Amino acid sequence: MSFHIIDTHAHLDDAKFSADLNAVLARAQDKGISQIVSVGSNFSSSRRAVALAKEHKQIYAAVGVHPHDAKDVVPRTWDGLRLLCESSRVVAWGEIGLDYHYNFSPPEIQVAVFRKQLEIAGELNLPVIIHDREAHHEVLSILKDFTGLAGVVIHCFSGDRRIADICLERGYYLGIGGTLTYPKNNKLREVVSEAPLDRIFLETDCPYLAPQPWRGKRNEPSYLTAVVEEISRIKDVSPEEVAAVTTASAKAFFKI
Ligand SMILES: [Zn+2]
Ligand SMILES: [Zn+2]
Repeated sequence: MSFHIIDTHAHLDDAKFSADLNAVLARAQDKGISQIVSVGSNFSSSRRAVALAKEHKQIYAAVGVHPHDAKDVVPRTWDGLRLLCESSRVVAWGEIGLDYHYNFSPPEIQVAVFRKQLEIAGELNLPVIIHDREAHHEVLSILKDFTGLAGVVIHCFSGDRRIADICLERGYYLGIGGTLTYPKNNKLREVVSEAPLDRIFLETDCPYLAPQPWRGKRNEPSYLTAVVEEISRIKDVSPEEVAAVTTASAKAFFKI
């Protein structure tokens, strides 16, 4: 089997990878995960993601402020992130959005910071990576105000079929990762079974959310093959086709 797979959402700047990143990248390459988007969650992790992308040709970067970190934004955060975007290794703005599960930042600040970043991403013509946890309706209603975006992916999609339909109608992509392999997650398997394969992106969100065989351990890009196998089983297409179709969409989206 020869795969070419893109992990569209990883946090390779996480301290959990600092000791063995080269081994992690080698294992990924072995399994065909030959391109990885390392996603920022605040200014310093975005800067680290860009540095990694400059150092390793397998890695690309996304920059942005996660809703958890929205409360720490200061005006110069935006100048700093804009400056990072001068590098051609930056392929998206994210991750941004709303997290009403934890509410580590007050909701009204999350909303303001989310809107501000959609504005900047629009100006810079970068696609956006959306984090939506227990905030489906508010995320969708805010996104509705931003029609000219270069592309939208709802990462770690956790809505039901109805929410998925709205996203697909609007041209958004669904980021699908390890949670698809969890025995109780029939809701997501139903979403994947209905969604066109070419609107699905593969992602690990590593070091978080390891697929079932490794659940609870550190996740890493090489484990993405478990997600490919699960999609192949649900949609009754070969793993090669899952890889080829999702990779073609992700390449076009991130222009990589
Ligand atoms: Zn997220
Ligand atoms: Zn993430």
